[in-house]
Amino acid sequence: MRFAGVSKRYGDFVAVHTLDIDVEAGEFLSFLGPSGSGKTTTLMMLAGFETPSSGDIFVGDTRITDMPPARRNIGMVFQSYALFPHMTVEQNVGFPLRMRGMAKAERARAVGRVLEIVGLKGLNHRFPRQLSGGQQQRVALARAIVFEPPVLLMDEPLSALDKYLRSHLQGEIKRIQRELGITVIYVTHDQDEAMTMSDRICVMNEGRICQIDAPETLYRKPNDVFVAGFLGESNMLAAQDARFEGGSLSVSLAGDTVALPVKRAPASEIVVSVRPEHLSVSAAADGTACITDVTYVGDHRRYEVLLADGRKLAVKSQIVDDSAPIGPGEKVKVAWPTHQMRVFSDGATLQ
Ligand code: ATP
Repeated sequence: MRFAGVSKRYGDFVAVHTLDIDVEAGEFLSFLGPSGSGKTTTLMMLAGFETPSSGDIFVGDTRITDMPPARRNIGMVFQSYALFPHMTVEQNVGFPLRMRGMAKAERARAVGRVLEIVGLKGLNHRFPRQLSGGQQQRVALARAIVFEPPVLLMDEPLSALDKYLRSHLQGEIKRIQRELGITVIYVTHDQDEAMTMSDRICVMNEGRICQIDAPETLYRKPNDVFVAGFLGESNMLAAQDARFEGGSLSVSLAGDTVALPVKRAPASEIVVSVRPEHLSVSAAADGTACITDVTYVGDHRRYEVLLADGRKLAVKSQIVDDSAPIGPGEKVKVAWPTHQMRVFSDGATLQ
């Protein structure tokens, strides 16, 4: 599946800027981003409910840009299950096959098989109102995969469900996706959901792709300052007195000079990001930073650290053995983990 130079404008407003994405067959790709970043618009263009203002969309070698939704052979599951209330489970799931003119006996076999896959065996004759939310979403999933589409679109399919059911169905969707070898395009604004389910995540902001990568790469090596701040927790620090010399950028962070390996010279303002779990502090009488708050969180302590220049840092410190906490008001030194820090200039990484 491929987006080639796809954009979407509504009048003067650009909802989605030029997108170029290659999705491999059998891949699970999530679109993740804040509200209004263009995720649903992108998905709707793929489904055929919106027409791109420019560019083309391909499934395999077939250009589907102008094809009506029903002919695209793409399965779809939405947050609102959109089941037909007057039809039984069996009739709902068999509907796409009936539309395709499949004979009754063959249809019953296919429906039986897919109801077993989604764990709804035995509920064939229930109506949607006689099912729980999780069961209704399974029916919607069964209906979306019964005609064996090569691509399945899911737009926030689990957001109406409670936490337990959501995590259970996340596992089920992954299992079904692997079993059927189906390509899944998934829209969510839930980071954890995107992280646990996806082969790759496409992080979007203001209608643009910030970065497409495997979850771990996005978390450990964000290429874009928005991704660094959006995914997980990061301390974002504007760096001062930057000097670029021989592949290294030395910057001043609250009185400490830190040398960071970089690939190119910075443009204008420089931002350094560092995750709370990568920082450490140690009590030191001559320390220039100070603990302002400490919270016990089971396996780690969370420190709030006030730097000499007035900026604050969050630090997560693993609790080993029965190590005592550093108390509020105590002076500390901050150890900067240079190999785990990311440097950005004009929003893009220098590394
Ligand atoms: P959410 O997570 O809130 O669903 P999203 O990332 O899916 O957000 P989209 O629904 O794709 O975002 O919207 C992207 C932008 O395009 C938003 O600013 C939205 O207001 C705008 N937009 C969407 N549909 C239209 C439309 N029909 N006319 C004008 N603007 C639109």
